[in-house]
Amino acid sequence: MSTAAAAAATTDPCVHCGFCLPTCASYRVLGTEMDSPRGRIHALKAIEAGELELDATTASHFDSCLGCFACVSACPSGVRYDELIEATRPKLNAPELRTPAQRAFRRLLFALLPYPARLRAALMPLRAYTGTGLQALARRSGLLRLLGPQLQAMEQLLPPLSPEAFRDNQPLVVPARGERRARVGLVLGCVQRLFDPQVNAATLAVLSANGVEVVIPPAQGCCGAVTHHQGELEQTSALAEALVKSFDAVIGPGRPAGAEALDAVLVAASGCGHTLKHYDRLLPGRGEAFASQVRDVHEFLAELGLSDSFRAALQPLRHADGQPASADNPVVVAYHDACHMLHGQGISAEPRQLLRQIPHLRLREATEAGVCCGSAGIYNLVQPEEAAALGTIKAADLTATGAGIVASANIGCSLQLRRHLNPELRVAHPIQLLAEAARAA
Ligand code: SF4
Ligand code: SF4
Repeated sequence: MSTAAAAAATTDPCVHCGFCLPTCASYRVLGTEMDSPRGRIHALKAIEAGELELDATTASHFDSCLGCFACVSACPSGVRYDELIEATRPKLNAPELRTPAQRAFRRLLFALLPYPARLRAALMPLRAYTGTGLQALARRSGLLRLLGPQLQAMEQLLPPLSPEAFRDNQPLVVPARGERRARVGLVLGCVQRLFDPQVNAATLAVLSANGVEVVIPPAQGCCGAVTHHQGELEQTSALAEALVKSFDAVIGPGRPAGAEALDAVLVAASGCGHTLKHYDRLLPGRGEAFASQVRDVHEFLAELGLSDSFRAALQPLRHADGQPASADNPVVVAYHDACHMLHGQGISAEPRQLLRQIPHLRLREATEAGVCCGSAGIYNLVQPEEAAALGTIKAADLTATGAGIVASANIGCSLQLRRHLNPELRVAHPIQLLAEAARAA
């Protein structure tokens, strides 16, 4: 089937019912039909029929889409908007559709974010700034407005940088504690390992304590999620190819003698997991076997089941004042559904199921759990006003749960939530909470 015919087949089932509109993050903040899934589908049909030109104005209505796929979950007619926007994104990268400043900013992001060594070099001078009084002063002074909205958004998302962010010090293999139940590989994620290195440390500790041996290919780079979600296909394929090769070197067909194959390839960042599960399409002929092994860490642990010894070791978490949670005074946690986990991978029960195993932890649900927080890869950098509006809405929804902790399993969401929530409300990865409860990290 031709690309045009495939696009027509994907748009055809749309009956314009509008059920997707209340779930659409861009429609929520922009309020115009052209910035809704129904409007974009209508525009695609018109482009296909030669009635509408894909010019800069039309392209801006596709750029306003977060790629959150909430509309796919909401659609009763089975319209695959995810496939439509994935096929449309590469066309939006035509030079005439964006201003020189927009193109330059995107080039900067794509030259930095997927390359941990470059990102570390760029961030090194900021170690004396992030998380210090200087940063607080700069923010209070209003001087950061002079940077312009996009660089200011970058600054506002920047977390304190720990020494661990600047080194990959994991061993090649973390052995299973006790009887080995599985052997897996771990994708570290490029942004996650810099901006929240404790997540990978906790993941290794929880897996090992549950009898899972973990192999961490040392040469691994970015999985390509950042560029994949923006339709930068050539760069994505190159990044995916390099990642698969880094795994092949230690566990593939040419692996060192004696090294065993893996039961799964795990990742603890859901944006990365979504792209890794698409390697069959991104790397035809080479990516199918890899993609079939990819599991989100929650998905894997829920399938495997926590070990008896791990469950027996789980203790109540502590409140912010250091007091342990109790039956009368539980720790209240709001689990935030990352879009690429919920709508992109269909995973929602597993993280909640794991968190419920922690004694005296009470889960609360946000009213609009399925609506995007505004992070969406680089969306909160390239569309900062819309992203900030969504971050404010999400922060209010999560705060209204009365939770003391927000559990978020995607680094992009965690940074966005930390920016918009009251700093007293802690944001932590669910696996970090499990590790803390088991006193395993
Ligand atoms: S995409 Fe689905 S939910 Fe949205 S208008 Fe079309 S048929 Fe209705
Ligand atoms: S992917 Fe998200 S932002 Fe884009 S049209 Fe669908 S619901 Fe709206």
